[in-house]
Amino acid sequence: MNYLPIFIDIKQQPCLVVGGGDIALRKINLLLKASAAITCVSKECCNGIEKLVKDNKIIHIEKAFEATDISAQVLIVSATDDSDLNAQVSALAKTANIPVNVVDSPDLCSFIMPSIVDRSPIVIAISSAGKAPVLARLIRSKLESTIPHAYGKLAELAGNFRDQVKAKFNNIEDRRYFWEKTFSGIVAEKVFSGKVDEAKADLQAQLDGSTDSGVGEVYLVGGGPGDPDLLTFKALRLMQQADVILYDRLVSDGVMELVRRDAELIYVGKERDNHAVPQGDINQLLVDLAKQGRRVCRLKGGDPFIFGRGGEEIETLAENGIPFQVVPGITAASGCSTYSGIPLTHRDYSQSCRFVTGHLKDGSMNLPWNELAVEQQTIVFYMALLGARHLSEQLIAHGMRGDMPVALVEKGTTPEQQVYVTTLAGLPDLVENTIIHAPTLIIVGEVVKLREKLNWFDVDND
Ligand code: SAH
Repeated sequence: MNYLPIFIDIKQQPCLVVGGGDIALRKINLLLKASAAITCVSKECCNGIEKLVKDNKIIHIEKAFEATDISAQVLIVSATDDSDLNAQVSALAKTANIPVNVVDSPDLCSFIMPSIVDRSPIVIAISSAGKAPVLARLIRSKLESTIPHAYGKLAELAGNFRDQVKAKFNNIEDRRYFWEKTFSGIVAEKVFSGKVDEAKADLQAQLDGSTDSGVGEVYLVGGGPGDPDLLTFKALRLMQQADVILYDRLVSDGVMELVRRDAELIYVGKERDNHAVPQGDINQLLVDLAKQGRRVCRLKGGDPFIFGRGGEEIETLAENGIPFQVVPGITAASGCSTYSGIPLTHRDYSQSCRFVTGHLKDGSMNLPWNELAVEQQTIVFYMALLGARHLSEQLIAHGMRGDMPVALVEKGTTPEQQVYVTTLAGLPDLVENTIIHAPTLIIVGEVVKLREKLNWFDVDND
């Protein structure tokens, strides 16, 4: 190790910052996060520093740096663009044995500032010893994206219960097991979803021995339209901690690759009218698995609340008192439109957008055609491949132009994405004479023309 990582307590301790520019401001803000008592010395200062002075957050002395400024300081940062001055500050600080950091000059530093992931009280510091700061920042952004923001709150909560837990379990093993269960179980999930009071009550009840119902939890997770990069952090986290995954045909292979390796996978199908497992049975299965104490992830394509029957699934859970969480996903309309160069709204062509189910029931769609067959609106039809002829005929019968542009996006956002562009009148023939696979989304509206205008080329847009 080139440096020893330590965390210094500088609460209300005098710290000196030399320099008044934006870089000095950044360091001041960092020191303020750790509650330092800051004096800034510089002949001029930027607006940000002026504001901090006005708000009584720091003291600014408007003058050139002098050797006496370092006396009584516990930490010094020099952030000026004058290299002689930086060297002078560094030499004085080192002689006085005061830790000093000179921005961007590792040779003049006695300590360096790491990249920080702040989930206070959890703080992660990353340093490349000044050799590859960009790499350190890259590592930082990876950690930022995988460590939930509420870890800090979870640590706070654990801190409040530490003594009680110690008193209850005098065996270290038992204590560790208790905390491991807490940090990866329902209590943690409650904290992450903002229900800190409930989490506290649960933890207290567990310690009092008044509950250990053994009931698991269900996560209703939107897996997005296909490209795994479109998953949310929360979706990924829950997919990776669930014991059982219930998934259907709409969940892409790329997304399935990211579930916990040793999770049990249950396929619940859903292929148009050939539902592998009827909806009622899926609802019941979720309840049964959770009652066995398992953490169940019901992984769905797109967003669970958009034509996803997510509402029905959680209704059954609620009736049975099973705790659950719902995680939104990118719906097919958003994914397909962005990956095919068709903005859903546009100032000149479309001021509203409607998501409509094109599912055929007894050969027809029960839709308010008069409201749909209007100009300046985009209509996105889900589940409409079989009903393409019907929807085309109905829209035309209700007054929409036969030359209204239409796009079909097949397997949107996946490497197999295909886009077919036609007109409303041409839609039935296209669908009947081309092999188009599900899932396919149909977009109707002038915005489809923008794809050409944007010179959009298919998929490989990464
Ligand atoms: N909850 C899902 C929609 C489920 S309905 C969501 O929010 O996206 C199923 C329909 O969604 C399919 O028939 C198809 O019209 C559309 N769909 C889902 N994923 C798609 C994809 N990757 N490409 C094109 N259409 C898709």
